[in-house]
Amino acid sequence: MINLVLFGPPGAGKGTQAERLVDRYSLVHLSTGDVFRRNIKGETELGKLAQTFMNRGELVPDHVTIKMLEAEVLNHPEAKGFIFDGFPRTMPQAEALDKFLASKDQSITIMVALSVKDAELKSRLLKRASTSGRADDADPKVIENRISVYKNETAPVAGYYQNKGKYAEIDGMGTIDEISERLYRAIDKNGK
Ligand code: ADP
Repeated sequence: MINLVLFGPPGAGKGTQAERLVDRYSLVHLSTGDVFRRNIKGETELGKLAQTFMNRGELVPDHVTIKMLEAEVLNHPEAKGFIFDGFPRTMPQAEALDKFLASKDQSITIMVALSVKDAELKSRLLKRASTSGRADDADPKVIENRISVYKNETAPVAGYYQNKGKYAEIDGMGTIDEISERLYRAIDKNGK
């Protein structure tokens, strides 16, 4: 069983790479951002709650996000493993995920972190705005806020996995294929 945390700032290319990792390792892709967006579209209670935070580029509160993530994992009893994309994004989320996986006799295999320069992130997000229809991609102020939330609250989560010897940093600049190859190498080396 392989459980990956795909990590990196907004615009780092997590979604694109996750699709390839799903195929190669037969994993279930759990993107918290996608689950929230589905709930917003479906006008669920969770969606209404998440929307206000997301539109401002803030994080949805931990207790809400953790509960939602655990429910998604339990929804896939057939899974051979998961790619967690956009989760954990805070230290309490990382601790909750460990506890939850341990209760199922599982653990995180490795965190793979995509590193991309700030200027490149901003240009990717603004470019994506024209096709994604995402309000949080279209406004430069919201993008700034997402990057600053990432630096303050999310980046420390990398240290949590580093301390456990479960961390690989991947250069996220280059072609999509080049970046996939780097990810495969890191996962094959550490994850088996
Ligand atoms: P990106 O990484 O490109 O910013 P995501 O699609 O992963 O976008 O997430 C979009 C928004 O969803 C975030 O800005 C945040 O508001 C919310 N969100 C996603 N994952 C989490 C999480 N683990 N904890 C709290 N909020 C989250």
